[in-house]
Amino acid sequence: RQTVFFRQNWVEIDRSDFHFNLKKIKEYIAKDTKIMVVIKANAYGHGGVALAKETQRAGVAWIGISSLEEGIQFREAGIKSNILILGNIFPFENFQVAVAHSLTPTISTMSGLAALEYWAVRLNKKINFHLKIDSGMGRIGVVPEASYPILQKIVQMPKTNMTGMYTHFAVADTDPVFTQQQLDIFTNIVKFARINLGLKFIAHAANSAALFRNKRTHLDMVRPGISIYGLTPFKHAERFLKLKSVLSWKTKIIFLKKVPAGFCVSYGRTFVTNRASVIATIPVGYADGYNRLLSNKCDVLVRGKRCPIAGRITMDMTMIDVTDVKGVTLGDEVVLIGVQGKEHIKVDELAKIQNTINYEVTSSISVRVPRIVV
Ligand code: PLP
Repeated sequence: RQTVFFRQNWVEIDRSDFHFNLKKIKEYIAKDTKIMVVIKANAYGHGGVALAKETQRAGVAWIGISSLEEGIQFREAGIKSNILILGNIFPFENFQVAVAHSLTPTISTMSGLAALEYWAVRLNKKINFHLKIDSGMGRIGVVPEASYPILQKIVQMPKTNMTGMYTHFAVADTDPVFTQQQLDIFTNIVKFARINLGLKFIAHAANSAALFRNKRTHLDMVRPGISIYGLTPFKHAERFLKLKSVLSWKTKIIFLKKVPAGFCVSYGRTFVTNRASVIATIPVGYADGYNRLLSNKCDVLVRGKRCPIAGRITMDMTMIDVTDVKGVTLGDEVVLIGVQGKEHIKVDELAKIQNTINYEVTSSISVRVPRIVV
């Protein structure tokens, strides 16, 4: 255990499962295809610095993150890998921060390119960047028509260097036809830049869903996020690649009581015992990212048995009904996500109840929950 914590509420990250997933992805792609591991947003809630270290140890070519803040945090933790900021840096004076920490910025506009060149001249430093093409995601990036003039400008810029060009798929999990259209738009621009303008760079596009479904999207580098954590980008994705879920969320029983039938539990008195019961309290609440929508709907595991949440999840504590758990005692370990005995509570189970995607469940686990690499 690397972190001292007192609250009995922690996330465990299985290092060997993370490396297993990386290895499986490596085997799935061509030998000369690079990997950018997407560990933005605190590694989708798994713990950014710890997984950046594991990624570096695995010799992965690139790390993809959201913001300058994450990049600075990684550099301060001693991460030397190539790091691409997938977000749009704004205002442009923040380019200096990227340069100071050797973080590769994404450029999406002519004015962004001009500002980057300005900082390169001013700092008297050659600055590398990746150009983002919006082939159909509609988030950031140069729209296809505008990409040709910007590429012609890139050729003329003496101090900035386009070392990568990329795009992002909107429906790689559900629509292979639209994804192929996006890929065609993107690869035409790549060809133009290479053949007509003689530019040399790496081209990348594939998120996990595209990586699994369409090998033509792999290009020079793939950019998996959700799959490196062993979570699935779409239903039945394990048909393509069977990976291992890296994250477990655990807590302990910190209070235990016997109550009679007709006893009400938590705010709103939404849970009423229909028999003499045993109710346990765990130190986990919605402020930890344990979503309030799970109230009265989700199970946890105690001594290998599923136990229902009793009543509303509160900010810092939640009650569970442990009446049917033989030998239950104070201090028993409780699994919110993960395996205990023969039972498994998957991230997808919580996501379904919350009417959301697995990405949101793990990335919402708040920073006050310690991440322990085991
Ligand atoms: N590339 C970009 C630009 C992204 O924003 C993301 C995540 O949203 C990814 C790659 C990884 O996607 P996924 O987690 O679906 O593999």
